[in-house]
Amino acid sequence: MRVIAIDGPAGSGKSTVARALAARIGLDYLDTGAMYRSVAFAALRRGIDPDDTVLVARLAEQVAIEVSDTVTVDGVDATIEIRGPEVTRAVSAVAANPGVRRELRRRQREWADGHGGGVIEGRDIGSVVFPEADLKVYLTASDSERAGRRSKEVLDMDYDTVAADIARRDYADSSRTAAPLVVATGAVTVDTTGLSIEEVVDRVLALLPENTAEGNR
Ligand code: C5P
Repeated sequence: MRVIAIDGPAGSGKSTVARALAARIGLDYLDTGAMYRSVAFAALRRGIDPDDTVLVARLAEQVAIEVSDTVTVDGVDATIEIRGPEVTRAVSAVAANPGVRRELRRRQREWADGHGGGVIEGRDIGSVVFPEADLKVYLTASDSERAGRRSKEVLDMDYDTVAADIARRDYADSSRTAAPLVVATGAVTVDTTGLSIEEVVDRVLALLPENTAEGNR
């Protein structure tokens, strides 16, 4: 089983790069942010307060989540809504919940077992979920580049709103106690500022054990 962990803050290019990389090397791709967003979506739909740690942790254990090209939560297509402002606001509290993290980590490892590994993207993949990953990459980019990329994707928010939202989530993700966003031990940091998707994918491909001098020894 081969696992490639791609971590980094919002707008660092993780999803685009992870998907392209997976296609290039013939592995499946998993967006773990979509799983946290799915739990937040389910809480909002059921009228559960995202800050209620006990109820949200229990919900995480019960909810049916399917993440592929589309995202289905308890049989409802949530592909669009999980990217919307309500879910984006609620997701930080859900992601800070240790019970939710424990359950999603279990599901992510189960997913990898069932798919013969994969390119797995998130915040804690190299540090907590797959510390034994074959390659760990930490993607970054300048604050303005990250906000610029996100505001092109999110059509209903202007640049300043997106930049403020990213800064809020960066702070929440980095300062939480449960699995904060960190550069994992053994991870290679790639700064994607000013690089095209192809350039980033090529850099990551060059880091694969079979493409490095170390891997060929
Ligand atoms: O990647 P994306 O921005 O969709 O992730 C949404 C949120 O889910 C992040 O802001 C973070 O709080 C949380 N997350 C996490 N751990 C992961 C993936 C996402 O805490 N592995």
